[in-house]
Amino acid sequence: MGVLVSNDDCRKGKTVVISPHPDDETIGCGGWLIKRKEAGQSTVIIIASRNQGARLVECARALEGLKTGELITLDIEDGANPPDEVLAGAAAAIAAILATGDIPSRLFVPNIDDIHPIHRYAHILAVKALRDCGTNAKCHVFQYEGFTPLANPNRWLDITAEMKEKRERLGAYRSQQKKYPLTAIVESLNAYRGATLFRKGVRYAEAYRMMETKEYLSCKPSHNC
Ligand SMILES: [Zn+2]
Repeated sequence: MGVLVSNDDCRKGKTVVISPHPDDETIGCGGWLIKRKEAGQSTVIIIASRNQGARLVECARALEGLKTGELITLDIEDGANPPDEVLAGAAAAIAAILATGDIPSRLFVPNIDDIHPIHRYAHILAVKALRDCGTNAKCHVFQYEGFTPLANPNRWLDITAEMKEKRERLGAYRSQQKKYPLTAIVESLNAYRGATLFRKGVRYAEAYRMMETKEYLSCKPSHNC
């Protein structure tokens, strides 16, 4: 039986999401973002990859009413190993966001076992940014899942009531829907997570791996990279 995050809990505090591509944020934590919006709380969304053109326009539509201010985009080339100075600059930008205003309660990052290069770099970026912040960054780090499901989630969020809206928001990513059945993939993952919670009334859930900052900083992907 998993640990369910309550609606009240997920709506609290400053929350920051690092998304490698425009769409990962909705795939992995769309239900969480929608619950926050319902409580009048928006979320800082950081997109790591550059040159996303039409996909960024779709992202703005998918996140309408969910994000805090304009989308923040970093300048990492998709699919390539970024030079150290690009990574350092991107990490510094994230660290500055984390250190501005309230300290975030939660930082959302992709599954560290994802083998897509820019998803891997999102983890490296998050680690660098948290280290740059030092003691200022004592938040809970939540890994979210996407096409690479988490092997060992420890937090679940019931998104049965939010699934319809999540589906609609995923629909904004038309360029991705043309490449693969994006909504069907996400819906089946969320249905599996809901079903394996064995709780009455839960049809869909998002799963996460929650860690204290210290634990996240020392954790390594299970693949070699
Ligand atoms: Zn991605």
